[in-house]
Amino acid sequence: MMRLYKTDALVLRVRDFSEADRIVTLYTYSRGKVQAIAKGSRKTKSRKRGAVQPFTYGNFLLYQGRSLDTITQCEPKESFSHLREDLVKLAYSTYLTELVDGFTAEGEPNEQVFLLLLTTFYLLLKDNPGLLVRAFELKLLNILGYCPQLESCVHCHGPVAGNAAKVRFSSRLGGVLCDKCSGHDPFATTIQMGSLKTMQQLLKWDIRRLQVLKVPEERQQEIAAILRHYIDERIERKLKSTVFLDTVLQ
Ligand SMILES: [Zn+2]
Repeated sequence: MMRLYKTDALVLRVRDFSEADRIVTLYTYSRGKVQAIAKGSRKTKSRKRGAVQPFTYGNFLLYQGRSLDTITQCEPKESFSHLREDLVKLAYSTYLTELVDGFTAEGEPNEQVFLLLLTTFYLLLKDNPGLLVRAFELKLLNILGYCPQLESCVHCHGPVAGNAAKVRFSSRLGGVLCDKCSGHDPFATTIQMGSLKTMQQLLKWDIRRLQVLKVPEERQQEIAAILRHYIDERIERKLKSTVFLDTVLQ
């Protein structure tokens, strides 16, 4: 195998490693999640300094190591600096990268994950972040095989009465429950049918077209709460960015 490789990547996370070096978590187009060391990147004069900031999209030349790869060169294509300058956008972007980091493993390339995150960063520069992030959550879960069952009952696979005003959603079982099965999870939450319909749309629609979707604030909040709970049940580690996100959204 070639030990030197070139790939487009997004910076998920950056942490200090030593006096001069940083460890960068990248989501690469060709190899999925990669941990790499950026030598000398903490030095003020380093050319890598700008390139290894969170959210940066660039073309990276990496050297494959035994446990950590090394960033040899990086040509930034888009720094997404606007996402770092606005607190709300910073909080949302940090959350998106933490979700990708938390739900993916190294050595499992997935072009769809890369493209979803890149597209969402571009849209976050101008769009209403709330709905966009809800769509991101659903699409990411779907790509990785964790999507909640939204079209039919998660227990019996039967139809869910579309004319009812409310429906039960079970985070533990992973989707909606029909009337007959609603007792199968006593901890299931009752949600508005409208919230379920909106989640179905967010999952199916092209993420670039969401701006035409008008969703009342109250429903957006209900969907945010459902997905937060659902994701917490599935992700192994506790998300740290949600604390920051909740603080800036207050
Ligand atoms: Zn059922």
